[in-house]
Amino acid sequence: MKILKFGGTSVGSPERMKQVAEIIAGVPGEKIVVLSAVSGTTNTLVSICEQCEKGNKEEASRIANDLEVKYHEFVDELLGQAPAADTNHEFVKQTFADIRALVDEKYSEQVAKMLVVKGELISTRFFTDYLNSHTNTAADMVMAQDFMSLDEYAEPDLKLSGKKLKHLLTEVKNDVVITQGYIARNAAGGMDNLRRGGSDYSATIIGAVLGAEEVQIWTDIDGMHNNDPRIVQPTHPLANLSFEEASELAYFGAKVLHPHCIVPAQLHEVPVRIKNTMDPDAHGTLISSHREPEAVKAIAAKDHITAIKIKSSRMVMAYGFLKRVFEVFEKYRTPIDMITTSEIAVSLTIDNPEHIDAISKEISQYGTVEVDAKQTIICIVGDLIAERKGMGKAIFEALDEIPLRMISYGGSRNNISLLVSEEHKKEALIKLHKALF
Ligand code: ASP
Ligand code: MG
Repeated sequence: MKILKFGGTSVGSPERMKQVAEIIAGVPGEKIVVLSAVSGTTNTLVSICEQCEKGNKEEASRIANDLEVKYHEFVDELLGQAPAADTNHEFVKQTFADIRALVDEKYSEQVAKMLVVKGELISTRFFTDYLNSHTNTAADMVMAQDFMSLDEYAEPDLKLSGKKLKHLLTEVKNDVVITQGYIARNAAGGMDNLRRGGSDYSATIIGAVLGAEEVQIWTDIDGMHNNDPRIVQPTHPLANLSFEEASELAYFGAKVLHPHCIVPAQLHEVPVRIKNTMDPDAHGTLISSHREPEAVKAIAAKDHITAIKIKSSRMVMAYGFLKRVFEVFEKYRTPIDMITTSEIAVSLTIDNPEHIDAISKEISQYGTVEVDAKQTIICIVGDLIAERKGMGKAIFEALDEIPLRMISYGGSRNNISLLVSEEHKKEALIKLHKALF
């Protein structure tokens, strides 16, 4: 059993969907195919929600109407004159009638949750019908809302999801099963989702609970690269990454994968292969438990980071100080990324500054607080790099002209992280690339 996930661009046009059908036909054996919404759709649905929240129902309906027109064109191009075209036009009409009915309802978070999942419901329906009516691949559809379950903390419940999915799979007839990425049901039984970009997560959860041979994430690039190709040239795709390296990279801004999606795969040791829909024969990146002792695998950067420094002489030889500081972040549900400490100060970073004012105010009872926005975390990833002789020297020599705001070394054996101001990011990436590759 393999899990194949196709992202928004990979199903972004009728042309691309047809290509996906060919890719699937070329992969032998049982498959579960996980699809995102057609690219742009979830963003559009989110903007419909935003208009509803502001009370601009007319604008919300107008956006929905425009999207509906596009989907009818999509059906024409994908299904032509086949009988499946009629049923899918009907399906689009019904879906958009539902969307307009939701727009008319009193806005609530639950209404928004029912709106944002429409994209995946449409793409999977189109694709299943296309396979069954226009190709030799016979497919069944299994609805994600019937198995993908969240627990009371809104995190995926792997045990329950696995049990439900296995049961549903006993009822399917074909080797190819299509399902929706992103969509889940919450503990209260309502429609929910795995948050933006969550289709990758859907795929690795499914792979994990079924003990799949492999999860393939089909996207529009040829794998994870050793640096940001928009800034440094030339970069190259990484043939192999360990789960640890991939988690560090996914988290620190290599936007190829959803940051959580490695976790279930690693837990159940299911390899994840990143493949390029535009170049299906290319190797891509294979993420597995296999480790390659190589000095440096990749450099990645994450922008829009806010650094916070708390300075207090009360910290000297005191216990419980960090706990109290961290509790403030916990209260505002704000994750901390990097941390460094001295005897009388602690610096940390967050990437969601939504509650920064309230947080600063509360922690100022423990010391003097300084906040620096517009920072970039640069992380250097590789197998055991933090234990390698000379790594520090190579990094600091390369960056000797660049002011470093924070350094995190030894937190993980696979990662060395630096914080620089955003204006120095480009120069830092280029210089590190030159020095380390
Ligand atoms: N369609 C959802 C999004 O755009 C989920 C995904 O594509 O991964 O966030
Ligand atoms: Mg994605």
